[in-house]
Amino acid sequence: MQIHDKIEKLKYRKTVLWLLDYQQFRTAGLRKQEEVRSMEIKITYIKHSSFSVELEDSILIFDYYKGKLPAFSRSKKIYIFASHSHFDHYNACIFDVFDMYENVTYILSNDIAVKEKEISGLKIGKNMDKLYFVKPNDTISIDDLSISTLKSTDEGVAFIINVNDISIYHAGDLNWWNWNGEPEVWNKNMEKNYKTEIEKIKGRFFKLAFIPLDGRLGDKYALGLDYFVKNTQSEYVFPMHCFGNYRVIKQLKEASFASDYIHSIMLIEEEGQNWILN
Ligand SMILES: [Zn+2]
Repeated sequence: MQIHDKIEKLKYRKTVLWLLDYQQFRTAGLRKQEEVRSMEIKITYIKHSSFSVELEDSILIFDYYKGKLPAFSRSKKIYIFASHSHFDHYNACIFDVFDMYENVTYILSNDIAVKEKEISGLKIGKNMDKLYFVKPNDTISIDDLSISTLKSTDEGVAFIINVNDISIYHAGDLNWWNWNGEPEVWNKNMEKNYKTEIEKIKGRFFKLAFIPLDGRLGDKYALGLDYFVKNTQSEYVFPMHCFGNYRVIKQLKEASFASDYIHSIMLIEEEGQNWILN
């Protein structure tokens, strides 16, 4: 090969390498912009009233008491919420289960009593600053999260969370529990208490709303959810507290009274189901 050809070949190689570099730089740049722009949210239905909400740099987990969890990113901050002490919303196993993650904060309703033996020897036992208790009608800020609560018509609280301009409502057991067979006065009082709480958030927009839809209430199964959806602006509504009876969700989607908001009701069919939303 003549010296001239050698130089040309080297020049060509250099140009190709430069082009490759430039292409990688461009792709990386685009990918980064997309990540910021798309702001994807991954929601996983774990069990009963338990869901995880994975955001760009944090993960929120609600009312976990048992069930298979997804593998969460270890680089994100994790926030564990428990709305009240009942067995189907809280289990002290949360401290053990999430101990494997580095940055975990617990936000528990103040009707929950945490015993020393449940946290001793765990990361949270050595860093109690990461354990918060909230009461009904409370407001606190933790990192980028603004958290406020409503008073449940059962026990504990409902959570309203704002993070990265995303608003999330998790009802816990705040619901219009109208039981057929209860005295009329009991049911009337329940209706009044439920409406009083929802009045506090009337007209508010929620990107995600997790609301009880409990078939045990018979023909009154959807009173609470229907009232909530009609008095707020909720984009994605996840029925919960179904005790495994997901037929009530289909029933709701076929009900004439729900025709205006059917599109916002997420159909849950099995544990582990997940959704990626923008
Ligand atoms: Zn419950």
